[in-house]
Amino acid sequence: DYPEIASPARTQAILNRYRLSAKKSLGQNFLIDLNILNNIVEAAELTKNDNVIEIGPGIGGLTEQLAKAANQVLAFEIDEKLLPVLDETLSPYNNIEIINQDILKANLPEVVAKRFRTDKPLKVVANLPYYITTPIVMDLLANPVKFESIVVMMQKEVAERLDAKPGTKPYGSLSVIVQQQNDVDISFVVPKTAFIPQPKVDSAIVKLSPKMQVDKRPFDHKKFVGFVRGCFMHQRKTLWNNLLGVFGKQESVKGQIKKVLDDLSINAANRPEQLLVEQFVALTNAFHEIGV
Ligand code: SAM
Repeated sequence: DYPEIASPARTQAILNRYRLSAKKSLGQNFLIDLNILNNIVEAAELTKNDNVIEIGPGIGGLTEQLAKAANQVLAFEIDEKLLPVLDETLSPYNNIEIINQDILKANLPEVVAKRFRTDKPLKVVANLPYYITTPIVMDLLANPVKFESIVVMMQKEVAERLDAKPGTKPYGSLSVIVQQQNDVDISFVVPKTAFIPQPKVDSAIVKLSPKMQVDKRPFDHKKFVGFVRGCFMHQRKTLWNNLLGVFGKQESVKGQIKKVLDDLSINAANRPEQLLVEQFVALTNAFHEIGV
C-alpha cells in the first residue's frame, strides 16, 4: 500500500518521477497536509450518499480523500500534463472520473446529467486555482445546477470579502452577490506551509450553503449581478452618483431614481457599502418594476 498522495514524501516523489514543476500560471499549489484535507472533507460533511464535483485535482491529493468519503467524484482539470499522473495516482479508486476541461467552459447541467451514475445530493469541494477564484464562484452561483454546498479553498483575502458585513472595508459587490443566495462560513485559515510550492499568501476554506428560498429574491440573478456591480463601480462615490452611472443622468431618470429611493427609505447620500443585501435586492426589483 502506498501512503496517501498528499503526504509530503509521496507528493515530492510524484513530482520528481514525472518531472513536473508546478505551473504558476495555472495556480498550481499542491496540498501536502493530510490534516487540512481531512478538515476540508469534514467541512463538506461528505457521506457515501453524496456526489462531488472537484475543480483542479492537480496530482489527486484531495481527490483521493473525496473518493474515500463520497459516492462519486467528477474532477475538472485543465492541465493535460496531469492526466497520466492522475491516471496512476487514482487508479485504486473506481468512483472518480477526470474531465480534461476548463471549468469555466464546462456545461455543468449536461455533465452532471450524463456522468453521475446516480442522483444524489451534489457538493462542490475544491482547492481553487487562485487566479480565477472569483469567476469560478460567480459561475457556480449563476449555474442552474443545485449544489447542496460549496466548500472551497481560496486566498484568505478573498474569503474575507465573501464573508464581509456592510460598512466594513472588504464589503463589496462580491459579498452582496454571494450572501444574497448563501450563508457564508469561513471554516478555517490555512498557512502557506501546507502547500508545495508555497503560495505568497495565506488561504482559507470557505463554506457556502444555499439559503432557503426567500420571497425577496431578485426577479433575475443576472440583472441583480449587473446592478450590484454598477452600484459599487465607484466605491467612494455616493449611491446616488453610482445610480446615475448605472441608469443615466437625464432629468426624467433622476426623478425615477429619487422616487425609488424615497419609497424604500434609502438615503441617496449613502456609500454603496452601507447598504444591506436586502436593500440591493429591493432596489433591483423596484427599478425593474418601473421599467428603468
Ligand atoms: N487539488 C490539488 C490540491 O489540492 O493539491 C491542486 C489544487 S491547485 C491550487 C489548482 C488546480 O486547478 C491545478 O491542478 C490547476 O491545474 C487546476 N486549474 C487551473 N485552472 C483551471 C481551470 N480553468 N479549470 C480546471 N482546472 C484548473
